[in-house]
Amino acid sequence: MADNKKLKNAELIAQMTLEEKAGLCSGEDYWRLKSVERLGVKGVQVSDGPHGLRKKQEDSKENSLVSSVPAVCYPTAATTACSWDPDMLREMGSAIADECIKEDISVLLGPGTNMKRSPLCGRNFEYFSEDPFLAGRMAAAFIDGVQSKGIGTSLKHFAVNSQEKRRMSVSSVVDERTLREIYLPAYEYAVKTARPWTVMNAYNRVNGTYCSENAYLQNDILRDEWGFDGLVVSDWGAVNNRVKGLAAGNDLEMPSSGGANDRKIVEAVRSGELDEAVLDTAVDRIIELIKRSQPALANKAEADMDANHAAARKAACSSAVLLKNEDGILPLKKGAKIAVVGDMAKNPRYQGAGSSQINPTRIDDALYALEDSGMDCVYAQGWAEKGVESVLVDGALAAAKKAETVLVFAGLTPQYESEGYDRKTMALPADQNRLISEILKVNRNVVVVLAAGSPVEMPWKNEVKGILHMYLAGQAFGSAAAKLLTGEVNPSGKLAETIPERLEDNPSYDNFPGGRRTVVYKEGIYIGYRYYDTAGVAPAYPFGFGLSYTSFEYSDLKLDKKSMKDTSELKVSFKVKNTGSVDGAEAAQLYVKDIKSTIFRPEKELKGFKKVFLKAGEEKEIELILDKRSFAYYNVNI
Ligand code: BGC
Repeated sequence: MADNKKLKNAELIAQMTLEEKAGLCSGEDYWRLKSVERLGVKGVQVSDGPHGLRKKQEDSKENSLVSSVPAVCYPTAATTACSWDPDMLREMGSAIADECIKEDISVLLGPGTNMKRSPLCGRNFEYFSEDPFLAGRMAAAFIDGVQSKGIGTSLKHFAVNSQEKRRMSVSSVVDERTLREIYLPAYEYAVKTARPWTVMNAYNRVNGTYCSENAYLQNDILRDEWGFDGLVVSDWGAVNNRVKGLAAGNDLEMPSSGGANDRKIVEAVRSGELDEAVLDTAVDRIIELIKRSQPALANKAEADMDANHAAARKAACSSAVLLKNEDGILPLKKGAKIAVVGDMAKNPRYQGAGSSQINPTRIDDALYALEDSGMDCVYAQGWAEKGVESVLVDGALAAAKKAETVLVFAGLTPQYESEGYDRKTMALPADQNRLISEILKVNRNVVVVLAAGSPVEMPWKNEVKGILHMYLAGQAFGSAAAKLLTGEVNPSGKLAETIPERLEDNPSYDNFPGGRRTVVYKEGIYIGYRYYDTAGVAPAYPFGFGLSYTSFEYSDLKLDKKSMKDTSELKVSFKVKNTGSVDGAEAAQLYVKDIKSTIFRPEKELKGFKKVFLKAGEEKEIELILDKRSFAYYNVNI
C-alpha cells in the first residue's frame, strides 16, 4: 500500500470519492480486485481452486479453463472427505497456499461445502459430504491450512446449492429446520472455528430470494448469528440487483460489471436509496482483504512442487475406500501375473471439469507404477470412450484368461461430471459394465479400481472379488493406486456419502432437480444416511463404510457422566485395537440417537470422529467430546 501502508481503513475511506468507493465493490477484471492508485490501494488477485491452484496464464484468454499455470492437482473434496483426517486436509491446504504465494494469489476460491443431496449433482466431486458434521470439519481444516500461510480462502457456495440444473435461477425451497440442521451447519462450523477471510454466495435463490440478495443468509445468519467478520463475494456473475445485494451483505461483486453496477451504487447513494454507511462498510472489508495477504506475498517463496506432489499422493492414499475384498484378493502378491484392463490405468481420471480444473504438473500412471513395484502386468485397453469396440473386449479377455488377477480400471469419463450440468443417471458407461461382466466369464479374480467423483451403480458388485474406490484422486492417482493395491499402504478411507443400490432409492429422487422455478427439498432432514437408516433402505455401501487389510476391535466404551446439563460436556472414551497382522489407520465414528424424542429425528447422526494410526497389535484410547449441540435439533417453535 505504498505510502499509505499505515493509514487506517477509515482514513483511506474518508479520502475516497463516492465513485472510487463504489468502484472498489466490483472486480477490475475476471480475477483482480480494483486499485485506488492515488491512495496506494493496490488490488489483489484471487483464483480458483480449491483442490489445487487454477491461475490464469498471463497470456491466455480470459477465463480459459485449460491453460492455467501448472499446479499440483490434489484429490478433490469428495475424495479427501473419505480420509476422515482433518490433519491431512490442513497439510494439503498449507501446501496449496505455498503455490498461491509463488503465483501472487491472495485468496484461493474454496473450499466448497455444499451438501450432497443427490448423487447426480454435477459438482458433487467438489463437495465433501452428505453429512454436515463431517463436511464442516473438513472444510475448516482446509481453510485453516491455507490461512496458516497468510493466504485467504472463500468458503462457497453459500447456500443450499446442491444442483447444477438451472443453477442461475432456481429457488431451493427448504424448511427452516432442514436449513439449520443440514444445509447450514458445515458453514457455521467452518466460519466460527476457521474464520475464512471470505465467503462466496451461490447463484441460486433460497426460498425465493437470490443468495446474493439474501439478507437473512448473509447479514442475519452469517454475520449477526455466527460472527463472520470477513467479506462476502458474489459467485462469478451471481449478482442480480447490485444495490439490493450490497444492502443485503454482498460486499464484493466478481468479476467486473464493466462499471454498470458501480454506477448504480453511486446513483443509489445519491438518491438516498442506499445508506452510504453500508457502502463504507463493504469498502472497509475490501481494503481489509487487500491488506491481509500482503505480509505473505511480500516474502515470495518458491513452492516445492515435488513435495506437493508427494502430499497429493499421501492425500490420495489416505482417502481411497476399499469397498470389497473377498478371499483377501488384495493386496496383490509380489510378482503376481496381473491383467491390467482399462484406459484409466494409463490415462487416469483424476479430477472433475469446470472452474476447479487444474493444469497438473505431472500425472502418475498406474500401469507404470504397478510394474515398477514388481508386478508382472499385461495391459489391455478394454473399453473406449467412444463406444463398443469388440476388438478391445477381445484383447481384454485374452489378457484376463492368462492372469492370476484382473485389475479393471473403470469409472466415469470426464464428460459425466462437471460444473454446469448434472448427471442423468447413476450408471457407469455401459461399455464398462459389459466389459466387466464379460471378463467375469473367463476369470473370477476381478478387482475393479473405480474413479468417479460421485456414487455409481455397480451391477457387478456381487461377482467381482475386490473394489477399490479411488474417487477423483488427483495427479498422483496412479502411484497411489499401486501403493494401495500392493499393500505398501493399507487403505483407510471410509465413505463420506452413501452409495445407494440404485438411483431410485435416493430420498431426493422425486424432487431432483425440481421444476422450472423451484426445487423443493421435500425429504427435509432425511438426506443421505439419515434417510437410508431411518427408512430401512439398504444401500450398496453405507456412509462411513470402508475396509482395511487389517482388522480393528472396539472395547471399553465409557461415558464420563450419566446425565448432563446443556452447559456441560460429555466425554466419550473407548479403545481401538489393531487385531490384524499389518499396520493401518482406522476412522472411529461416534453417532448419537435420540431414543425418547417427541419430534421426528433421524435414526442416527454423526457427532464425533477420530482417525488413528495403529501398528499391528497396538491399542489406543480415543476420547471424543459431545456437547449440547451434539444432541440438539432445531426447534422452529421458539
Ligand atoms: C463457480 C465458482 C468459481 C467461480 C470462479 C463460478 O462459476 O461457481 O465456484 O469459484 O466461477 O471461477
